[in-house]
Amino acid sequence: MSIIVQKFGGTSVADTEKIRNVAHAAILEKELGNDVVVVVSAMGHTTDGLIKLAHELSSHPSEREMDMLMSTGEQVSMSLLAMAIQEQGHDSISLTGAQAGIKTEPAHMCARIIDIDTTRINKHLKEGKIVIVAGFQGICEGNEITTLGRGGSDTTAVALACALKAKRCDIYSDVEAVYTADPRVIKTAQKLKVISYEEMLELARVGANVLHPRSVETAMLNDMPMRVRSSFKLDDVGTLIIGADKMELNKPVTGLACDTSQVRIIICDVQDKPGNAARLFNLLADNNLSVDMIIQSYARKATNTNDIAFTISKNDLDKFNSIKDKINEIVNASNIFVDDDIVKVSVVGAGMIDRPGIAAKMFDTLARENINIKMISTSEIKISCLAEKKYSDAAARALCKAFELDGASVADVKGDLPDV
Ligand code: ADP
Ligand code: ASP
Ligand code: MG
Repeated sequence: MSIIVQKFGGTSVADTEKIRNVAHAAILEKELGNDVVVVVSAMGHTTDGLIKLAHELSSHPSEREMDMLMSTGEQVSMSLLAMAIQEQGHDSISLTGAQAGIKTEPAHMCARIIDIDTTRINKHLKEGKIVIVAGFQGICEGNEITTLGRGGSDTTAVALACALKAKRCDIYSDVEAVYTADPRVIKTAQKLKVISYEEMLELARVGANVLHPRSVETAMLNDMPMRVRSSFKLDDVGTLIIGADKMELNKPVTGLACDTSQVRIIICDVQDKPGNAARLFNLLADNNLSVDMIIQSYARKATNTNDIAFTISKNDLDKFNSIKDKINEIVNASNIFVDDDIVKVSVVGAGMIDRPGIAAKMFDTLARENINIKMISTSEIKISCLAEKKYSDAAARALCKAFELDGASVADVKGDLPDV
């Protein structure tokens, strides 16, 4: 018998009617002859609500207590779902992350899964039960509850699918598929029938929040097929995510994403001498600040200085402000600016490898819209440009047109998709 892992996000379990629908989806899969494990998120915006409560009581709540608090959201939806399945005539049991054997590293609010002991889940599957597991949580040394970071239930689902040697991991959401761009912003974005792990990982990293990047990374490392599909249209197969070797690439760009969650920091007049950049970025790393794009300007001859600009997550701005004085001590900057009026627009596609002119086409498209580019970064399959936030939608629309990602212009996948 094959195991299928299903994951349902917050909107899919937002009320009891929707939970009844999820119960139906799990039973349908079971009746196809599969063993079924269901991972659930907290209902609707429960996690946001819990975080708000904590901040009403404390400006810096302890991370341990935050994990104790946030992990309760998923425990509400898991037990309600088990009840709904039982009510529809099937046997089911819900398990917390700890009960499901999910072990994590000892890091609160951003723990990584290090091991899953599947003994208990396998036992319940053998008993014919549909097993429900609370997403986004685990347990670390010392029996402490941990959470995996916002959006972490996707990672719970994929990690469980890998540990259980499942046939597939289905991520059910409020969209029908992975689209070429966020369908809530670009109404003409097209559904993708298939996308490679590499492209999906890059898209998730640059802001397509339909999947958490770590879930795609885990699937890629384990060659676990994933599907993104609709909780509300159960017969739609959505998007298949598989290895690039199983696909034919027919277009340079597969999708795009806009990310407004970063800020740009500009450090002015840094002495142009060996070691300054190293000292600056070591200090950021020592303070757990992840840096994304980096630009260093050409040195000014008169002063022998240059400017260094980089982007960090908005969530890290408090942390950055707390080390601003230290930065000044290290590099003796004339000024440090924080620019939060930015959007990072990225195009992604494995087909851009060895195809010259894609970056030029992106810059040209933005120029035609009169959009000034503040920073650029590239990888083998991605080009990102930073621009003023107000241009986010205009840039996305123009790039969709230029790279044929909208309307009827998306080419169908060549050949048959693997049967997973
Ligand atoms: P869930 O609560 O099910 O985990 P999320 O809100 O995390 O759902 O992810 C689904 C959302 O991702 C959609 O509502 C959609 O607006 C957004 N999204 C962004 N980029 C894309 C894309 N390329 N394709 C599909 N959805 C996208
Ligand atoms: N409930 C958690 C969150 O809102 C985890 C998840 O939904 O994936 O971030
Ligand atoms: Mg999500």
